[in-house]
Amino acid sequence: MVVKDITSRDLWKARKRITPYITRTPLVYSYKLSQMTGANIYLKLENLQEVGAFKVRGAANKILSLTDEQKGKGVSTFSTGNHGMAVAYIAKKLGIKALVCMSDHVPEVKVNNIRKFGAEIKQDWDSQDAAGVYCYDLMEKEGVTVIPPFDDKEIICGQATMALEIIEDQPDIDTVLVPLSGGGLISGVTLGMKMTVPDVKIVGISQMKAAVMIESLKAGHPIEMPEEETLADSLLGGIGLDNKYTFDITRDYVDEVAQVEEDQIADGLAYLMENHKVIAEGASCVGIAYALQQGNIKPGSNVAIIVTGCGIPMEQVKNIVDSHF
Ligand SMILES: *Cc1c(COP(=O)(O)O)cnc(C)c1O
Repeated sequence: MVVKDITSRDLWKARKRITPYITRTPLVYSYKLSQMTGANIYLKLENLQEVGAFKVRGAANKILSLTDEQKGKGVSTFSTGNHGMAVAYIAKKLGIKALVCMSDHVPEVKVNNIRKFGAEIKQDWDSQDAAGVYCYDLMEKEGVTVIPPFDDKEIICGQATMALEIIEDQPDIDTVLVPLSGGGLISGVTLGMKMTVPDVKIVGISQMKAAVMIESLKAGHPIEMPEEETLADSLLGGIGLDNKYTFDITRDYVDEVAQVEEDQIADGLAYLMENHKVIAEGASCVGIAYALQQGNIKPGSNVAIIVTGCGIPMEQVKNIVDSHF
């Protein structure tokens, strides 16, 4: 199986490359959810990565695959979320310079989250788009490599390593529920699973608000949408109008996409807290939210749900606790 220019060999190379830099996360059985659905449900806990999200897999694979000359010139990104942290973290571990460009409007907590991993921060723009233009300009002029958040072969292969671990731990998995935003995660997980066990079913799940990939699939091409407030804030953002990998892979290989409501995401967070004593972020609970809705899970099936990260402000945790317990 070759998808675009990606083969199973690329995924195993990524696996070998990034192993020293990431945490091999557990796949835990979820007793209550299994009982409720009549299925066997497992959670892949990527919230346990040291940076707090799976993004470290793709970032590590991309940065490690650069040439020595490229590494010498440093890397940059304009993501202020989990990807920005992952790039800063890996660059620091490898002794590579990292520059994170962001708009003046990025909240201080986010700026500090990235600064704590040792990246240089430049805040000199009105919008993230303008920060991005600067990064690409710097790549052209000074050779500082931009590490893209999702639409990139090495990023996708890095995220795919998660699927290889799932198969190792539970070869019987027949369905995987994957949070869906730019689609780097779902592209990687889909290829990682289907290149080994082709009959597996992949379901991509987004929030109701500004679900750009799902709306793009409906339109038949990548579209842009204004962002809206959601508990799943890590799932916001566009997919790029000149998308090269993730739109096609999602369209051609993902079996189903679905959306969940805000209160369902909150219930997913509460489920994790109550039953696993795990705190995760909204974006990472869309799979659980989906599984909690009656009729979505086939009884008797073996399901892996990816819990992607834990970047949640404590006020939000408090709100969930207050409203649910
Ligand atoms: C980035 C991210 C996602 C979505 O990944 P994509 O590759 O953009 O689809 C989901 N959950 C968390 C916590 C993330 O940081």
